[in-house]
Amino acid sequence: MALSKRLAQVGRECVACGTCVKVCPRTAIRVASGVTARVNGALCVGCGRCAKVCPADVIDMVERGAGA
Ligand code: SF4
Ligand code: SF4
Repeated sequence: MALSKRLAQVGRECVACGTCVKVCPRTAIRVASGVTARVNGALCVGCGRCAKVCPADVIDMVERGAGA
């Protein structure tokens, strides 16, 4: 399966609330060690759902290969 061009990227201001984890259809985003959310680039399909629901607005959708 081809990877989407977009990828979710979590900023440092993540408050580890877990909201993004609940909406991801691919289980591509997880809160690591209760500190910050991390995206598994191999699973993320770039749907942007996590970015829409993040209460802290710290998720950006970035182009793959653009230093992400
Ligand atoms: S963009 Fe979609 S697939 Fe990727 S981590 Fe966010 S919710 Fe999951
Ligand atoms: S919804 Fe936003 S603040 Fe909450 S865990 Fe996900 S990235 Fe972090």
